[in-house]
Amino acid sequence: MSILAEKSRSTQSGSEPATRSVYVETFGCQMNKSDSEHLLGLLDEIGYEQTLSIQDADLMVLNTCAIRGGAEDKMFSYLGRWRELKDAKPGTLIAVGGCVAQDEGKKLFSRAPYIDIVFGTHNLHRLPELVIQRQETGKRVAEVFQELPEDLPELPVIRQNDFSAWVSVIYGCDYNCTYCIVPYVRGREKSRAPQEVLKEVKELAVAGFKEVTLLGQNVTAYGHDLEPKYHLGTLIEMIGEVEGIKRIRFITGHPRDLTPEIIDSVAKTPTACEYFHIPMQAGDDRTLRRMARGYLTDFYRKRVEQIRERIPDAAITSDFIVGFPGETQEEFLNTVRIIEELGFDHCNSAAYSPRPHTPSANWADQVPEEEKFERLRLLNTVIGETSHKANLPYLDRTVDVLVEGKSAKNPNRMTGRTRTNKLVNFDGTADLTGQIVDVKILAANPWALRGELL
Ligand code: SAM
Ligand code: SF4
Repeated sequence: MSILAEKSRSTQSGSEPATRSVYVETFGCQMNKSDSEHLLGLLDEIGYEQTLSIQDADLMVLNTCAIRGGAEDKMFSYLGRWRELKDAKPGTLIAVGGCVAQDEGKKLFSRAPYIDIVFGTHNLHRLPELVIQRQETGKRVAEVFQELPEDLPELPVIRQNDFSAWVSVIYGCDYNCTYCIVPYVRGREKSRAPQEVLKEVKELAVAGFKEVTLLGQNVTAYGHDLEPKYHLGTLIEMIGEVEGIKRIRFITGHPRDLTPEIIDSVAKTPTACEYFHIPMQAGDDRTLRRMARGYLTDFYRKRVEQIRERIPDAAITSDFIVGFPGETQEEFLNTVRIIEELGFDHCNSAAYSPRPHTPSANWADQVPEEEKFERLRLLNTVIGETSHKANLPYLDRTVDVLVEGKSAKNPNRMTGRTRTNKLVNFDGTADLTGQIVDVKILAANPWALRGELL
């Protein structure tokens, strides 16, 4: 047992070291979900076991997202409910971490004085110490680091799944897109050493994991900051040698950094999935310039061509923002046209949300809310149609599906993903979870495929 663990247990009354329980709620991206698995690992070291029932929790942790205003509103509405739970069970602690906590720090106490602990994105590893500090002093505690520690600590982890694992390989982002709060709350790019990543993946393979997803806000920039420089393709090829790992994925890429070398490494590595998520954000050159994305539409088109030439079966997905300040109707329609032209497999879409610290939040030419949502509705219709078209060629084909579990809608149905990240539903039993099975596709709709187990 670590020193921290002994210290925490000794603060509890009674002779037997009681186990306490922690409930973690996560908003936002895979990076946050992965961080939450590390929070569970860290808290386990001081005797907190995960509970999925919030009523039982002695510690409630909210891992927040700041990417859009809506995520923050949701956070305060959750916290309001947590306060009632805390009132009903005095002694329960509330900790808030993640991107909003990084940005707001102890200012969160003035809006929600019942929060006990605030911690940021750069000091997850400190949470156990902060919990103990709160228990010992009885005082609220807020700690936010401005940067990640020089030597990245290896964090314990409790994964929420035993066949597919997230592996963070790079933190932060060096771009400064004019709408995005990420560089402010996640800091500058910092890659993990390739040997450390490889060691983690080998351990995952030994533990029976079949799939790894390499994570980063800009995963395609992996290794640019290392000495000597390194690139994501080399890392993928190295992981491709690890026996037992059947699928390698990586998210999220930036079109500029997804070089032909990386595409080539994916093509050469049999276990690297032919799936590329490359957010385009807008299909209009003036908008892309004002977003400071660092590429124009022709550059992006060329990337798509490069992928499709090298890996004809590849699925390509993207993210788009509508109603960016100053976006005219015609410019918005350029985005609609490019989605149809490039035939994406799927796109995430969002109405522009002005974020603190970002230049575009202060621009005068904000698009009215109704207009943004009108554009979003049209965009989503086109995305649905394009995804449907992209799914139709799967009809009658047999695909490998990594089974994720029971379908949420139908307990007799199982759900999983193809190598190209398409969701597939089929009749099957729960014991297939975690296995890779052959499924023949019988129907294709915009959001999923349906098939039969062979
Ligand atoms: N690094 C990725 C890239 O280069 O595009 C994106 C990471 S960001 C966490 C995920 C998505 O959130 C973005 O692709 C973008 O579409 C969306 N997003 C970011 N800031 C936004 C804002 N202010 N309003 C609406 N959507 C936003
Ligand atoms: Fe945000 Fe992605 Fe731009 Fe970085 S590259 S600033 S994470 S949108």
